[in-house]
Amino acid sequence: MDYQALYRKYRPQRFDEVIGQDHVTNTLSHEVIEGTIAHAYLFAGPRGTGKTTTARLLAKALNCQDRGDNGEPCNVCFSCIGITDGASLDVIELDAASHNKVEDIREIRMNVSTVAATGGSRKVYILDEAHMLSRAAGNALLKTLEEPPEHVIFVLATTEPYKLLDTIRSRSQRFDFHPVGVETLVSHLGDISRREEFDAEQPALDLIASHAGGSVRDAMSLLEQVAALGAGVVRSKDVARALGLADREVYSRLIDSLKNRDAAAALGLVAQLAAQGADLRRFVADAIGLLRGIFLAQYAPNLEEVADESSDTLDQWRKH
Ligand SMILES: [Zn+2]
Repeated sequence: MDYQALYRKYRPQRFDEVIGQDHVTNTLSHEVIEGTIAHAYLFAGPRGTGKTTTARLLAKALNCQDRGDNGEPCNVCFSCIGITDGASLDVIELDAASHNKVEDIREIRMNVSTVAATGGSRKVYILDEAHMLSRAAGNALLKTLEEPPEHVIFVLATTEPYKLLDTIRSRSQRFDFHPVGVETLVSHLGDISRREEFDAEQPALDLIASHAGGSVRDAMSLLEQVAALGAGVVRSKDVARALGLADREVYSRLIDSLKNRDAAAALGLVAQLAAQGADLRRFVADAIGLLRGIFLAQYAPNLEEVADESSDTLDQWRKH
């Protein structure tokens, strides 16, 4: 079998496999069951949180020939397999970054109005990075959204929804995808590690999750990179290396030098990191994060509720 990136290999094929976006997938599967699907959706949220994946799942569920009572696609019928393989004519994916001109949208409009529904299927147009559309292209799209043919559904995916025309936003049903929480990411990474038979240290998975910025895609590509580095063993020190992070011990020394008001020690530490080629910008960001954490650990009695971090990280904050 051809090599597949982990993110592709484990791309969700059912609504309930999408990580950390239950508020979106529950509503969508309900709309599929009830037949209350809108003609235009706006999927807004940070990168790697499942916007285009969910759009494909919507297309799959709508066109599935043996859909479950819970609104989930069967993944074995002709239509489902076509969509999984990216060979279906019912899903049209366009990257607005490279199709942002008014002529491109006119072409889509021509396409939308001439392509008849075959065998009652629903055509789902997924417009990724929709905020990249030019103003003229946005206005052209609006005309289509105003009078969409019965069998056509548009999903506009964007990381920057405020850049879209108000008139487009107001004609779409909006779903906000959230950054995925650290604990949820850690458990997902653990699950993938077991299935891939990686030998993964728990602190390494914590570290990956807390540096993924809420993105499932970023977390999985980092896991993949580190597993390759360690030939199947996932170690914290390799995560730190891949990210250009300083060792944990360095932060302890930094905190000690601050406590002791020892500027020479702190500056020596920075010089040492620079000489080792560590990413100093990242070091500063992580040091600020740690200081904030220590502050929270001292003054917030409900630390677990206010901080989205692994229990290991919370313990580290309490220790200082
Ligand atoms: Zn199916």
